[in-house]
Amino acid sequence: MEEKRLEENRQLRERLDRMLNEARRNEKTQSSFDDFSLSVVAAQGPEELFQLLLQEQKKFRVDDIRLCIVDQYHEHERLLTESYQHSYPGLSFLDVDSCQQFIDVIPDKPMLGQHVVSKYAALIGLDDAHAYKSGALLPLKRGDRVIGIQFLLSTDENRYSQDYATTFLQRLAAMIAISIENCINRQRTLEMGYQDGLTSAYNRRYFDERLKHEISRCLRNHTDLVCLFLDVDHFKQINDSHGHQVGDAVLVRLVTLMGEQVRSSDIIARYGGEEFAIILPDTGIQIAHEIAERIRQLVADQKLIFNDRTLSTTVSIGIASLSQIKYQNGLTDSKQLQKSADKLDQLLLQKADEALYLAKETGRNKVVIKKVNRNEAPQVQRKMKNEK
Ligand code: GH3
Ligand code: MG
Ligand code: MG
Repeated sequence: MEEKRLEENRQLRERLDRMLNEARRNEKTQSSFDDFSLSVVAAQGPEELFQLLLQEQKKFRVDDIRLCIVDQYHEHERLLTESYQHSYPGLSFLDVDSCQQFIDVIPDKPMLGQHVVSKYAALIGLDDAHAYKSGALLPLKRGDRVIGIQFLLSTDENRYSQDYATTFLQRLAAMIAISIENCINRQRTLEMGYQDGLTSAYNRRYFDERLKHEISRCLRNHTDLVCLFLDVDHFKQINDSHGHQVGDAVLVRLVTLMGEQVRSSDIIARYGGEEFAIILPDTGIQIAHEIAERIRQLVADQKLIFNDRTLSTTVSIGIASLSQIKYQNGLTDSKQLQKSADKLDQLLLQKADEALYLAKETGRNKVVIKKVNRNEAPQVQRKMKNEK
């Protein structure tokens, strides 16, 4: 009898221990989930946020993660990815027009199970769908609006089963949605500080930062980069004879025209009053020359009508390329390039400015690429060394 009682006690104690261990484990998981949610909300900028949502989150026994962000005018894609050099594996942007039927039927609550993988494989471009045996779809909503979808994928068919409690995932989805929306808004505000108020072109501050960034990217990718300097000819006369407001409108039209001639990834900036600079990354001098010539011709052909008066204008353009600067300064091997990388932007701007000056000097309404003389190399290199 006594023995039976002891055995019952032992079994009870064991059960209690098991329950306690499970409670401790749950508490630990819960606390690590909470920490994760907090870091998602606190993420500074898209890079950190995507790192958390596409990589860090894998620590919760997730084998792969996909994040789709709904994007009406490719604005979100630009805002969230433009300033970074690499792409984020697993991140995609959903074009509203082509994905509307999917977006319309996104449920309010997380959806779990084996069917999630097969149902949405096409939407998330999952080539190896068969590798994943279960998944969770997290609807990222702000009010009634779907702003995105996160897919958590597992090779274990029991990882996300339909009877799994979804309260936590629902809370997490709400946090992620808020964080993405905040991030988009923050990037938008940041960009406003980088824009010229009159023309909406980027401002000089942005241009200078971006030029450095694009140069190092092109050096890494072994591609060329071209910088155009453009200045309106006799702009003072336009102001004098038509008024300052018309002068302003001419600048706005000019930026629109330039925007139509370059790719959306090229950078147009207002460098000063009636002077603009354009960065054409991954572009050779020949193509850049054609683009500049097209801009020059279109501006010259354009008749602008303001207050029933017609006016025309011309522009002068100076061009310089990264490969020119490398050649001119004898920067052939990667060690030399690395050493001089922080000076290349200044050298490039200087060269484009000299070319613009030459265009002005030799008659205006011109595109000029200044000849490069390799003999200049020792001078510039010495100067760079002394400056250190
Ligand atoms: P050049 O062909 O040598 O470039 O002659 P320019 O008259 O264009 O050059 P200059 O530097 O003599 O004059 C530039 C003028 O641009 C003077 C300035 O008042 C005007 N300007 C600068 N910023 C603005 C602006 O935002 N709006 C207007 N309307 N005019 C501006
Ligand atoms: Mg001018
Ligand atoms: Mg000027």
